[in-house]
Amino acid sequence: MPGFEFFGAEERKEVNDVLETGILMRYGFDAARKGIWKSQELEQEICKTFNTPYAQLTSSGTAALTTAFAALGIGAGDEVIMPSFTFVASFEAVLSVGAIPVLVDVDESLTLNPDAVKKAITTKTKCIMPVHMCGSMANMDALQQICKEHHLLLLEDACQSIGATYKGKHVGTIGDAGTFSFDFVKTITCAEGGVVMTNNKTIYENCDGFTDHGHDHKGADRGADLHPFLGYNFRISELHAAVGLAQIKKLDTFLAIQRKNCNILKDILSTIPEVSFRNVQDVEGDSCTFLSWFLPTEDKTRAFAAAMKAQNIMAGNFYWYDNNWHYIKKWDHLKSAKSLYPLTDAQKTSLEKLNSQDFSISDAVMSRCISTAISLLWTEEQVISKGNKMLEVIKSIL
Ligand SMILES: *Cc1c(COP(=O)(O)O)cnc(C)c1O
Repeated sequence: MPGFEFFGAEERKEVNDVLETGILMRYGFDAARKGIWKSQELEQEICKTFNTPYAQLTSSGTAALTTAFAALGIGAGDEVIMPSFTFVASFEAVLSVGAIPVLVDVDESLTLNPDAVKKAITTKTKCIMPVHMCGSMANMDALQQICKEHHLLLLEDACQSIGATYKGKHVGTIGDAGTFSFDFVKTITCAEGGVVMTNNKTIYENCDGFTDHGHDHKGADRGADLHPFLGYNFRISELHAAVGLAQIKKLDTFLAIQRKNCNILKDILSTIPEVSFRNVQDVEGDSCTFLSWFLPTEDKTRAFAAAMKAQNIMAGNFYWYDNNWHYIKKWDHLKSAKSLYPLTDAQKTSLEKLNSQDFSISDAVMSRCISTAISLLWTEEQVISKGNKMLEVIKSIL
C-alpha cells in the first residue's frame, strides 16, 4: 500500500534540489529559486498522470477536502451525504466549513449504498461525498445519476485510492471535485500533503486562492495581490512537493506490484467457498492497496482476527468494525459532539441523531469484513506464505 516502502535516491535528489536553493516556499522568490518550482511541477505531473485539467496541492488530504468544500460553495447549514465507513478526516472537513455530515450505510462495495443515499436526501442536501475506501471505488454511475436528478454536487474523497479507475477514468477526477491525500501511509506520499482535482476552472481558481489566504496570484508581486475572497493557509511546502514528485513517477510500479500481490492472495483465499470478496465496481480499476474479503458471520470473523493476533500475524489484516478511526461504531467524539469550540445548533442536532440512527446494514457488512493490506515489499514467496497461513487460520475457525 504505502509509497514510503519505496523511498530512496529519487526522493533525496528532488529534496536536494530544493535544499540547494533554500527556497522552501512554493510562491515568490523568483530569482533566488533558480527555476526550481517543485509544487508547480507536481501539479502538472498530477494533471498528466490522472488526466485532469486542474490540480491544487494542499498541506494535507484533510485540507484538500476542506478546500474543496469551500471552493464548491458548501458551508453553514448545508448537508453532505457521506458513508458510515471512512476516515475521520471526511467528517472533520464537513464540520470545518459549518456543514452537516449526514452518514448513511455502506454495502459490500465498502462504499456508499446508492439507495441509502437517495433516502437521506432532504431540501438541505447540497453534496454527495463518496469515499473510495481501501483502494477501490464507489458506484459512480449511480451516484452521478442521483446528483443529476437532485441537482447536487459530487465530491470524491479518493484519498485512499490513488491510481484506481472507474470505467477508464481516475477516481477523484469524475465528480465536481476530488481529493487525494499524500500522507505517510498513502499510495504515494509527500510526508504530508494532498490535492484537489477538478474539471472546472472557477472551482480550481477558488482552490488556488483559498489555500493561500485568498491571494489571486495574478501579479508578479505577491504583496500587491488582490483578495477577491477570504482564504486560509493550506499551502504545501517545496520540500514536501519534492518528495511527491519522485513518488508520482513510481506510481505505475506501485500499482503493478499491488495488483500482482493482491491477485495471488485472492487466488489462495478463493479456494475456501465460505470466503467472499468485496464487490468491486470496476475490477480492472482496483488499485489493490488492500484485498477486502468477508467471512460468513461476525463470530467467525472475530475468531479469525483473534487467532491471527494470537499467532502474531494480524499485522496487515484490518478488522475495521472495531477500529477507532474508520467506522461509526467507535466515533464517540462525533456522536457526542465533543468539539473544542461551539458547533452550530444544526450541526449539534444532527450529530445527536447519530446515536439513535440504525446502522444495522453497515454493521452486517463491516462486522464480517477483513482488509488485508498489500505490501510493495513482499516477494512472491512471501505473499504465498502469508496467504497459506491465513488459509490455515480460516479453515481452523470455520
Ligand atoms: C488519509 C485520508 C484522509 C485525510 O488525509 P490526510 O492527508 O491524512 O489529512 C481523508 N480521507 C480518507 C478516506 C483518508 O484515508
